Amino acid sequence: MNEVVVPSPAKVNLFLEIIGRRPDGYHDIASIMQLVDLCDEVRLRRRRTGIRVEVQGAELPAGRGNLAYRAAALLLEAAGVEGGVEIHLEKRIPVAGGLGGGSSNAAAVLIGLSRLYGLPWSREALQKLGENLGSDVPFFLGDGLALATGRGEILTPLSAWPPQWLVLANPGLPISTAWAYREASSKLTEWQPRVSIPSFPLGGRPQWPPVWAFNRLESVVLPHRPEILALKHLLQEAGGAPVLMSGSGASVFAVVSDAVSAHQLAAQAEKSGAFAAAVTTLTANPMWEARG
Ligand code: ATP
Repeated sequence: MNEVVVPSPAKVNLFLEIIGRRPDGYHDIASIMQLVDLCDEVRLRRRRTGIRVEVQGAELPAGRGNLAYRAAALLLEAAGVEGGVEIHLEKRIPVAGGLGGGSSNAAAVLIGLSRLYGLPWSREALQKLGENLGSDVPFFLGDGLALATGRGEILTPLSAWPPQWLVLANPGLPISTAWAYREASSKLTEWQPRVSIPSFPLGGRPQWPPVWAFNRLESVVLPHRPEILALKHLLQEAGGAPVLMSGSGASVFAVVSDAVSAHQLAAQAEKSGAFAAAVTTLTANPMWEARG
């Protein structure tokens, strides 16, 4: 196989609690993550040697600073592949937006490269390798809906809902995840973690709409970023419920009942100058259906 195209979807955090800081500097979290159908495209082509990354649609480094590059370097080395890869990224997911675009691209490269070189790596083996690239990478190799614990790499799969409509909106300011967690870390004694989430039966399907939606990072990010709060209010006043920041922001998402409301609300958010998209939740992970 000479070329593989892998869709690389975004995620939203329907629930995100920070349990505490760990000796290794990471935080223990409990998060429910859901894939949505806003996708970057990752195209991989064989090259005789070396890794080349080309990015369209966003300003991102082409070398080791790009998670796609790092994912390719890690797998080529770990699998002892003699050969290289050319990676073309078509970015549609807002960068540093709490939607996991970088981790998703890294996961897409792991799957794409395995296909390209016919590597006999299981999903679990790729997930284990992916942990070295970022805590969310194993989730992006999963089935699309999971409870993530530990630093985000321990996954309990949850059974999917039928596709549900959401509106994603981003005011166009990047938020550093490291900064958000540092802020949260300094306030850890101020809250009692919501470790028990009453309305989601683990191993089953949590209730929809997610009235239990919650993101601890809102309390540290929103006071510093009134633009995100304003966007949240816009979506709430237009009928989204619940409306929540995803990850460390700056993206927010609104749960809506149908396609018409989703497109109307996305258009309204766009008018305010934000990036906005009407999306649906995914019931399976499209990365595993990569085209050769
Ligand atoms: P996270 O919560 O995992 O930090 P995020 O969703 O907030 O992620 P990303 O879009 O994944 O944000 O980007 C996080 C950082 O990773 C950015 O600073 C960006 O420059 C860097 N990065 C490296 N490679 C990529 C990539 N392929 N796509 C997006 N960002 C990338």
